[in-house]
Amino acid sequence: MGRIELDGLTRKYGDVVAVDGIDLDIADGEFLVLLGPSGCGKSTLLRLIAGLIPPTGGRVLLDGEDITHAAPARRDLAMVFQSYALYPHLTVARNIGFPLRAARLPRAQVRRRVAEVADLLELGALLDRRPRELSGGQRQRVAVGRAIIRDPRAFLMDEPLSNLDARLRQSTRAQFRTLHERLGTTVLYVTHDQVEALSLATRIAMLDNGRLEQVGTPTEIFDQPASVFVAGFLGSPPMNLLPARLENLDGRVRVRADGVEVDLLLDGPDGAGGPGGTIEGVEARNVVLGVRPEHLRLTDRPGPAGTPLLRGVVRAVENLGAEEVAQCAVGGEVLQFRGARPLGLAPGQPVQLTSARDHLHLFDRESGRRLVWRARQDQPVSSAPRA
Ligand code: ADP
Repeated sequence: MGRIELDGLTRKYGDVVAVDGIDLDIADGEFLVLLGPSGCGKSTLLRLIAGLIPPTGGRVLLDGEDITHAAPARRDLAMVFQSYALYPHLTVARNIGFPLRAARLPRAQVRRRVAEVADLLELGALLDRRPRELSGGQRQRVAVGRAIIRDPRAFLMDEPLSNLDARLRQSTRAQFRTLHERLGTTVLYVTHDQVEALSLATRIAMLDNGRLEQVGTPTEIFDQPASVFVAGFLGSPPMNLLPARLENLDGRVRVRADGVEVDLLLDGPDGAGGPGGTIEGVEARNVVLGVRPEHLRLTDRPGPAGTPLLRGVVRAVENLGAEEVAQCAVGGEVLQFRGARPLGLAPGQPVQLTSARDHLHLFDRESGRRLVWRARQDQPVSSAPRA
């Protein structure tokens, strides 16, 4: 078992609140990724759970037992560091077997377990080498092996791939995923890399300023970001976020900005059937309109009434190999549009972009929280609750 519960977990450094009252329930067997920009409190949170630093408030429970003040060695959690922290003078076999020898297990048993773990991590041929005779990826696997051999209730991993080059990061990522599927052990994994988070996690916990912004599956976090912060963190390039105004015009709700005209209430292909649902009582308010670069497409027609339209001028086009990204000035903002190469666009060219309404996101400009709306309802817009 390896269920980890955090209850109001807090850590202050003087006036800095590094971790600010985090409540989180990590189920046994989850691969939970703590994601956020540098300085948001990820490492501090992991260290609090590992017991390397004490909290200034709140509790940590492991399978229901309060371990807030237990010594790290008594927590049955195995930590894997970015720096690998291997013993340079010991062979791979002795590095991996170290925790079992320290626990004074019989030699034959240690040997057998080391062989099993080395097999799992494809380190069998390297057992007699020392860390300096290994590549970065191999060292990382030894560090993981040393964690696995303890058969802990959970693995705590702090940016374990960040010292590897891009190609190795990708293959090691795939190995981590397979390993988690085979072992089924809870993993708590810290990274600032969205690709790692999206590809590895069963759930992502997004942190900003020591607080949880959103907790959800990678799909939920990517497709329904709970705030401007989450929306602008994920994606490559990240979501376009345009300040706009939500208006009720003749009973139809529209999002408007310089160069932007989006009627929210036309649904169905090309607005067939005319305006869907008129609504009353929607207050005009300041919003942020979000649309991902890959969800935009060129449209050369004015389109049927109500087609979401963004009009701008191409500023630059960047070649990404298979795709291109065009920077387009829309009103006073710059919007990124990504699509298969060639987009057929040149700087200075006027463009008209559109997007499926399902791919448009709205956020309240003041709170930054996601606004949910449904066509044909009296209350089309309400604020999503905070995570
Ligand atoms: P992350 O891992 O997301 O980059 P950290 O957990 O390392 O973030 O840091 C969170 C915040 O706490 C930052 O503002 C950082 O400066 C501060 N902090 C971390 N460790 C210490 C420390 N030992 N003393 C003072 N401030 C710290």
